Amino acid sequence: MRIQYLFSFLILLASSLYAQEAIEYGEVLPFKENLAMNSPKESPQPDMEVVGRRTATNAIQQMEQTSENKSDAEGDISDENEITDSEPEEIIEDQETITTVDSTQLPDTLFIDMTKSYMPTENRRVTSPFGMRTYRIHKGIDIKVQVGDTIRAAFAGVVSKVRYERRGYGNYVMIEHVDCGITKTVYGHLSRQLVSEGDTVQAGDIIGLGGNTGRSTGSHLHFETRINGMPMDPATFFNFENQTFTKAIYPLSMQQAKADYTALEKVASARRYHRVRPGDNLGKIAQRNGISIEKICRLNGIKRTTVLRIGRMLRCS
Ligand SMILES: [Zn+2]
Repeated sequence: MRIQYLFSFLILLASSLYAQEAIEYGEVLPFKENLAMNSPKESPQPDMEVVGRRTATNAIQQMEQTSENKSDAEGDISDENEITDSEPEEIIEDQETITTVDSTQLPDTLFIDMTKSYMPTENRRVTSPFGMRTYRIHKGIDIKVQVGDTIRAAFAGVVSKVRYERRGYGNYVMIEHVDCGITKTVYGHLSRQLVSEGDTVQAGDIIGLGGNTGRSTGSHLHFETRINGMPMDPATFFNFENQTFTKAIYPLSMQQAKADYTALEKVASARRYHRVRPGDNLGKIAQRNGISIEKICRLNGIKRTTVLRIGRMLRCS
């Protein structure tokens, strides 16, 4: 009898350690047109203050801190994580990384003219910041929007891409800009695109409606700001919470920006991950990666008894 109890206990223990499959499907909400809110509103009043640049050490420290906090937070599967996109989005423009930035072609300090900007969405809640995500760099910022919410061009420019990408950005719009300092903005996961490639747009023009298309598990806007291909944190320039820009004229040291992004890439490439497969358990994963179960638990903020979802990325270094 005792052996039988022990046996069933072991089976229970083993099954709890084994992975359970949970495929996430994007939530499809009823379509809601929001074109009534088309008329552009007053842009925020510029404050003409120009700030000095951050120091390199500060920026990198901040970044490391952010990435640490994030990795801790991502250990728990929270609602916050569930409503944001959880898979690589950078399928488009993958070639457009830091390597395309030739600092010699740019002045050392670029003055980003935010007086020419417009908030891409009137929603204020950032659901996922720019920077290190579990196993990759999140090259934009996620803002909670409802399906059908108005999405606007952040700067004047020419629409360069109106495309659909099933495993990434979903319906997205890309705009090239010339005279504001930011050279490109991207708007992802739209339910509808309301511009065509080649269209000229002004800041504040409606370009699409918010949605949940592509690799996304809840309606949100994925918004990117790039300078010569290099992703920049949109929160550097836009304050979504207060619906305004951070500085009227934002002085950006390109050397600094490049150093920051290189540091971020270094953090990303130094991390080793294991994607949970059917039949995996912590013991196997630990053995395969030459680390202890305790360390996997600590790095990922999980317990020995946590059920491992198939496909989940576990940090292993
Ligand atoms: Zn995103």
